[in-house]
Amino acid sequence: MNKLALLAGILLATLISMARGAERPNILFIFCDDHATQAISAYGGPLAELAPTPNIDRLAAEGILFRKAYVTNSICGPSRAVVLTGKYSHLNGFRSNGDTFDGSQQTAPKLLQQAGYQTAIVGKWHLKSAPTGFDHYEVLKGQGQYYNPMLITNGENVTHEGYTTDVITDNSIKWLEQRDPDKPFFLMSQHKAPHGRWEPALRHLEFLEDVEVPEPSTLFDDYSGRSVAASQHAMGIADHMGDNRLMLKYSSKFTPEQFEVFDGFFRPKNEEFLAANLTGKERTQWHYQRYIKNYLRCVKAVDENVGRLLAYLDENDLTDNTIVIYSSDQGFYLGEHGWFDKRWMYEESFRTPLLARWPGQIEPGSVNDQDIVSNLDFAATFLEVAGAPDPGDLQGPSLVPILKGNTPKDWRKTHYYHYYESGGHGVALHFGVTDGRYKLIRFPEEEIDDWELFDLERDPNEMESVYHNPEMAEVRERMTKELELLQDQYEVPADDRQGKGGKKK
Ligand code: CA
Repeated sequence: MNKLALLAGILLATLISMARGAERPNILFIFCDDHATQAISAYGGPLAELAPTPNIDRLAAEGILFRKAYVTNSICGPSRAVVLTGKYSHLNGFRSNGDTFDGSQQTAPKLLQQAGYQTAIVGKWHLKSAPTGFDHYEVLKGQGQYYNPMLITNGENVTHEGYTTDVITDNSIKWLEQRDPDKPFFLMSQHKAPHGRWEPALRHLEFLEDVEVPEPSTLFDDYSGRSVAASQHAMGIADHMGDNRLMLKYSSKFTPEQFEVFDGFFRPKNEEFLAANLTGKERTQWHYQRYIKNYLRCVKAVDENVGRLLAYLDENDLTDNTIVIYSSDQGFYLGEHGWFDKRWMYEESFRTPLLARWPGQIEPGSVNDQDIVSNLDFAATFLEVAGAPDPGDLQGPSLVPILKGNTPKDWRKTHYYHYYESGGHGVALHFGVTDGRYKLIRFPEEEIDDWELFDLERDPNEMESVYHNPEMAEVRERMTKELELLQDQYEVPADDRQGKGGKKK
């Protein structure tokens, strides 16, 4: 009898574990390019009323929204390499967009594959080498274009007619349709949008046309009160947008039918603008309106497509057993400090949106404005959600305990940042540390060789560095020590610490 009972017990345990295996959660990772939190209604702020994001807001209502999600390196390729590896740029080898990702290294998708997940990526990749660790891939070449994209599909070039944001979702859903339903899936559905140059979908051309979008209070920043770094930028709404970003010229190859509608919308307005010969402040204000409206139109298509994926989960009975994560490779300037683009450790591009829904695990309507979380944490998070083993060498911890409302006592209190692409859009190489209130930034290159320190409580827009203020000596010393400590902890090489690790652009 005892032997029988033992056998029955083993059989039961095996059956339970098999059943659990079948129920391992799916992971849907919707990743955008250059989507600022300011352009998501659920985040609040001056654009909240205009930000066209009901579906992303639904994730906030049914899940969790993070307010202190910071990136390690605020630029496209490097951020994506961090997401895949769970390691800083100096360890995964992808410091600047000019680098090529070493696809032979360990990545989260490979580990998920080994754990029995079906893995796929559709959309923006931007790491040059062919994707590895995916059962299926369809990726844009480089930046791709907004209309009629070519997707490298498991090694073959395939061109699609349509609006890229829609095509990426169409093909994400096609892959979901043909997957093996007996295995859990990991799908990275990654949009080009709302990366420049902001070409809206034809159906969104009129959106916001009659609205005057409020200007950010720092649109006419004069860059005094900081090191010389900010004043050397080449990412100004006033002077650096160029004809393509202003839609005075178009970047996509349109079909004749698409062109007629697209050009029919912009051409008369462009002619009016050129004839008016605006100068100075008025010209910048026109640039800003043109920029922000097209940016928000691109966001509108992203949001509709988030809605399509959520509807697919609902209609196929997948919602309850799928964690949906929405994020962007970094934040973006929507006119703050007079800028478009990213790269800086200042808040708007350092901070990235992060929302997650996981029924039964995440308390609906949660807002986390305390914990410092990062794109460094995605790899470990995917693995823990999947119940896959921790490889032991990831630099970012899993977010799962925080998602469930239990922040570990030893969770990071500070975050390290390192931007390497010296000179891109006039942004100097810099690195720094923040504890969520104070932010210390080091510009190590000879031409600047300076530091900045901000107190976000007193100066949320980061308009005045207090680094050289004698009253800040204690904070300055503490943050400098913390910076060195983190560089040690993350094994930042000596050359990188001296500002030699990057490439000049
Ligand atoms: Ca980006």
